[in-house]
Amino acid sequence: MLQMNLIPVILPKPRGFSWSSTLCFLCLVCSSAARSKVLLVSMDGFQHDYLSKTDTPNFDSMISAGVTMPYVNNSFITATFPSHYTMATGLFSESHGIVSNAMYDPVFDSTFSKKNREPRWWDGGEPIWITATKANRKTGVYFWPGSEVAIQGIHPAEWRPYEEKVPLEDRVRTVVSWLSRDDFELAIMYFNEPDTSGHKWGPDHQEMLPVIRRMDRLLGFLMEELERAGLKDTVNFILTSDHGMTTIDLKNKVVEVPKYVDRSVLHTMVTQGATSMMRPQPGKAAELVKALSGIDHIHVMLKKDIPERFHLKNNRRVMDVFAYGDEGWTISEWNATVLQRFGNKGNHGYDNTLDSMKPFFIAQGPAFKQGASVEPIQNVDIYPLVCFLLEIEPSANNGSLTRAKLLLNDKYLNGAGLKTDCNFAFVTLLAFIVIDIRFFI
Ligand SMILES: [Zn+2]
Repeated sequence: MLQMNLIPVILPKPRGFSWSSTLCFLCLVCSSAARSKVLLVSMDGFQHDYLSKTDTPNFDSMISAGVTMPYVNNSFITATFPSHYTMATGLFSESHGIVSNAMYDPVFDSTFSKKNREPRWWDGGEPIWITATKANRKTGVYFWPGSEVAIQGIHPAEWRPYEEKVPLEDRVRTVVSWLSRDDFELAIMYFNEPDTSGHKWGPDHQEMLPVIRRMDRLLGFLMEELERAGLKDTVNFILTSDHGMTTIDLKNKVVEVPKYVDRSVLHTMVTQGATSMMRPQPGKAAELVKALSGIDHIHVMLKKDIPERFHLKNNRRVMDVFAYGDEGWTISEWNATVLQRFGNKGNHGYDNTLDSMKPFFIAQGPAFKQGASVEPIQNVDIYPLVCFLLEIEPSANNGSLTRAKLLLNDKYLNGAGLKTDCNFAFVTLLAFIVIDIRFFI
């Protein structure tokens, strides 16, 4: 672009020649053709080894055409809202502030549920659709935790209020129609499956096999739609998930907290399940930890003692006492009989180093390696990766572009690919200008 600015100074303007129109044309060529569009899709609760359980021809095709990894190293807690917001912002939970699917904020003196749309809960991080919109990259989000919230007072160009009943294929058609528009550069889409079925059946149940094949057919449909729109070979498509899933036993693997403490010590269990954020009565935190210590299969601690590797404790929405269960164990304020009425056989939220909690990852497009498997990245790396693909400045984040660049091919990293088209256009146009000038002189 620096060279472009010099041209009018060095060369005289010939008769019949319009510098302004030429430069406008050049800018258009170099601004839109230089960048590939990006599509980011999450299939909730897609454990990394689901693909080995049944026939998945469409996932297999995408792996052959693109790049994959054994799993993604995701962040704690391995729950939908924290993990999706970590992917979107590149920040760990303690930084972006969505520390769980349910929260209590002592400053707001208010509780958060998944239906909350108040910006004050979300503004600890800047999600990719806001970064992109601020950089004039037209963006559409078809469901993603936080995408309905006016973060920094901004909405992306397209977004939809969450409605689980919207058929999955309808979401695909809409997103492909967005990407088909010349001015659209980023689309983001979320599917609630296979998470919903994983909770119902557990990840190892036979009933999960048709669900996995259903998601495979959905991917096939998305690929067909991209191909029909002429986008399949030009969009950089990232397909991943927020967490895995493990089998739970609500009859035999439950820690019923009221058996050990009463309301004189424990004010509220803000969350329960694989983990529990416990709000003690004033001055009773140490007593609460002591009362629950020594119970098999759960790990109870003061907030300050939460391991650093969880990247969780430095946020006011993490309560003074925290507990997490061994894999498959449930921490509850209800007894096992009540819990069994829910009928769930699967859950997540456990230690993010457990194999079962890790999601899958595949990416395909002009920027990505072909037929390659690389070292696992972290879910915080996705945000800087998408910013890099869109050529925009990322907000401060915990991710590593160095790790994410392992996914990219040499041609792209060397500035080739579509950027070559831009350079080629520039050189061709420059040659044309020189010839044109000589003709007029
Ligand atoms: Zn989830």
